[in-house]
Amino acid sequence: MTRTTARVEPIVVVGAALFDDGRLLAARRSAPADLAGRWELPGGKVEPGERPEDALARELREELGVDAEPVERVPGQWPLRAPYVLRVWTVRLRPGSPAPRPLQDHDELRWLTPDRVWDVDWLGQDVPAVREVVARWSAG
Ligand code: C5P
Repeated sequence: MTRTTARVEPIVVVGAALFDDGRLLAARRSAPADLAGRWELPGGKVEPGERPEDALARELREELGVDAEPVERVPGQWPLRAPYVLRVWTVRLRPGSPAPRPLQDHDELRWLTPDRVWDVDWLGQDVPAVREVVARWSAG
């Protein structure tokens, strides 16, 4: 007998560890109310049929107005509210890209030097991802 098990496929949310000039970008959420005021790695949901790297470039263009290029995946995956999981890429601005500005979902941006990374109040679900980013950053 074949057993059918309802299995919910995770929906991937892509997050950007956007580096420029040795600093990491943090973005402060302006909505929804339960996330507003907390800081995150900017990004968003991958659309059906979309490559995660393309989703990341799209989200960064929409949210920050930048022309950005995913560089490499940060190993790991972190659970968000089901069915979402967070996967993170290091990202850089392409030459000539506008500087990031908060166009959508955010009301403030901050460039963090390594000694300042924990100055902002990261969303709890982003903390393990940021830890991994920082560990790899300090390992050079
Ligand atoms: O930005 P968007 O609404 O597409 O993000 C999808 C979901 O993923 C939201 O619930 C958001 O809070 C969450 N998210 C997160 N950490 C991030 C990016 C998004 O928890 N770095």
